[in-house]
Amino acid sequence: MKRSDWRGGGSMGSGTAIIGVMTESKEHLLSLSLDELTERVLALGMPKFRAAQIMEWVYQKRAASFEEMTNLSKGDRALLGEKFAIFTSEIVRNVTSSDGTQKILLRWPATEKSPEGGLTETVMIPMDDDQCDNFGNTVVTHRRTACLSTQVGCPVKCAFCASGLEGLKENLTPGQVVEQALRLTHMLPKEGPGHRITNIVFMGMGEPLANFDTTVAALKTLMAPWAFHISGRKITVSTVGLPPQMKRFAELGLTATLAISLHAPNDELRSQIIPWAEKISITQLVDAGKYYFEKTGREVTLEYIMLDGVNTLPEHARQLATIAKLLRANVNLIYYNEVPELEFKRPTGQTMFAFQNTLRSAGVNAHVRKSRGRDIAAACGQLARQDKGKGVVQVTVSGA
Ligand code: SF4
Repeated sequence: MKRSDWRGGGSMGSGTAIIGVMTESKEHLLSLSLDELTERVLALGMPKFRAAQIMEWVYQKRAASFEEMTNLSKGDRALLGEKFAIFTSEIVRNVTSSDGTQKILLRWPATEKSPEGGLTETVMIPMDDDQCDNFGNTVVTHRRTACLSTQVGCPVKCAFCASGLEGLKENLTPGQVVEQALRLTHMLPKEGPGHRITNIVFMGMGEPLANFDTTVAALKTLMAPWAFHISGRKITVSTVGLPPQMKRFAELGLTATLAISLHAPNDELRSQIIPWAEKISITQLVDAGKYYFEKTGREVTLEYIMLDGVNTLPEHARQLATIAKLLRANVNLIYYNEVPELEFKRPTGQTMFAFQNTLRSAGVNAHVRKSRGRDIAAACGQLARQDKGKGVVQVTVSGA
């Protein structure tokens, strides 16, 4: 049995306060690189090193306001507070699963396209693992993976996905993507095991490569030593497959992993569940994936959501194996998280592992991804659809 404990109110039990929504006149600090902030502080008559101090306060010391930056003069703090906003979102829901997965629903400032403020989801997936080092010692790793959104809604409208049900509302800015990671960081302990985000996946709401410049700018901040300092190898950008953008991404020389959300092993089936696949063939995706490997030396990964009876037959596994071998790609098999409004079903474990075995027998490295946060509307976009605009709610769901 699951027990849900709903507590409405104006403050977060996790200790994360709701911090002011950006006013139109303020620039979003989290959209800026260190160089850009340096230009701004010089223009305000402050010393150049002020920019590095501010970034350290925001990203290392977790300051949520300029008032907390005590090694800055009072005058500078006041001026910075007039010019810049750090947090711009409001946390409208904060849900924790029995497996520790945490999902937050953020509302962004109102815009013309989203007069009530766009809603996006952000997820933290904790994973503490025992591993063996080169000397046979047991090492405990504390992986904290943040799953970020890049758009409000999604233009792709995959048939099985809650995020795509209403199409695209608007693109997020780089600062809004970075803010999601910072919101999650503020929910982690300040020190000790699991105190920082170690991995990032761009697998939340939206198609990251359809909001290309934002995705790249946010990625750079996530990797920057003055901000999150996460290795590109620990960042995965997942795309439904836009060949020109995939090639452009390859040319940037970033070390991120590119994952193609394939979800079907032939064009006919793919275009039935992913509308954009009508115009983009698997052959084009394979071509772009090979280009990514040539340019970066990194193989793409194939993501495959298992929709029971739709793309889970043995012949599908054999077709998928052929594609994976062309790309030398690992395949991640993902359990479908059911969406109440949609008729797709989650397969059994037996179906998942039989499919994996067929791939492995064909020489493909295939993994069944663990299902996380199933008790907290885990399917992408589900929480946003559930929101009834009732204000701040914190939900803890625990096995009982
Ligand atoms: S699965 Fe991804 S690409 Fe497809 S509609 Fe959902 S968010 Fe968009």
